[in-house]
Amino acid sequence: MFRTFSRLALAAFAALSLAAPATAAETATPWSLAVHGGAGVLERGELTPEKDKAYRAGLNAALEAGAKVLKAGGSSLDAVEAAVRVLEDNPLFNAGKGAVFTAEGRNELDAAIMDGATLKAGAVAGVTRTRNPISLARAVMEKSPHVLLAREGADQFSKEKGLEQAPPEYFYTEERWKQLLAWRKDHQAALDPTHLFGTVGAVAMDQAGHIAAATSTGGMTGKRWARIGDSPIIGAGTYARDGVCAVSATGSGEYFIRESAARQVCDRVAWKGETIQQAADGTMASITKIGGDGGLIAIDGQGHVAFGMNDLGMYRGAISSAAPTPRTAIYADEPSPR
Ligand code: ASP
Repeated sequence: MFRTFSRLALAAFAALSLAAPATAAETATPWSLAVHGGAGVLERGELTPEKDKAYRAGLNAALEAGAKVLKAGGSSLDAVEAAVRVLEDNPLFNAGKGAVFTAEGRNELDAAIMDGATLKAGAVAGVTRTRNPISLARAVMEKSPHVLLAREGADQFSKEKGLEQAPPEYFYTEERWKQLLAWRKDHQAALDPTHLFGTVGAVAMDQAGHIAAATSTGGMTGKRWARIGDSPIIGAGTYARDGVCAVSATGSGEYFIRESAARQVCDRVAWKGETIQQAADGTMASITKIGGDGGLIAIDGQGHVAFGMNDLGMYRGAISSAAPTPRTAIYADEPSPR
């Protein structure tokens, strides 16, 4: 009896010691993050190798900033804010520093953030003085009883709450100015139909299983009449609900508003039982049907990410406890990171 036991014990020990040690990724409590840097019409070969590298480096830096928060056990809300701030500070993207110009040659910034755990949300539209509009959106959520503040009022709230202010010149970049000049020559329409890339966003699940979404943009080149797009509209460009999904969208905002795009993804998951990828694709199909274009990133309650788009490209990336090296993609026919 004793001998049988000890043989069994030995065999068990041998099996244990032969088994490959669990990797850090396998033992870690799951967390997950995806980011985007805008969608649009971008043919392969249009980007120089240097530009391609620079965009991917920008996405990687955002993924790393968010992952640092999540790895350390921080909240999904902190992670999406950290990732979006990095993209706002990067002149390549149409948010914060690299925002596009309005018809009058100004920069008017929109941003939103939503906490899936509490369904609290904050957003700002048409702000002109805040270096990181995503942090201002978060301040609206946490330090005011409101969800959406706009223009002068939002600028004033930003100052009162002590957010970092930037002079109008801070938001000037030569490339965006040239885009405005080109727009002035070619279009005199209210909107730029071939809208240019660069809105940024992030969705994340933290180790506690909470999810959050954040989006920030300069809107569209040549916008006027205080036009506001989908990004700061909760349920259109940004949405998060624990256990269901979190979404950040990019594209021709008017269409995303009309299809309640971000909320639609979540409703498809909650009410139709679609997977997050089916919900992302189904929502993009509804945008396509009414003539809109762009893309979105989404994450479900288990941290699976999905990318949906009907454009030729979307700057995008992902990182997770299971795949802790940042991965990026740009073109639609390039496999999206999971
Ligand atoms: N969705 C943004 C807007 O309509 C623009 C974009 O994502 O490119 O303001």
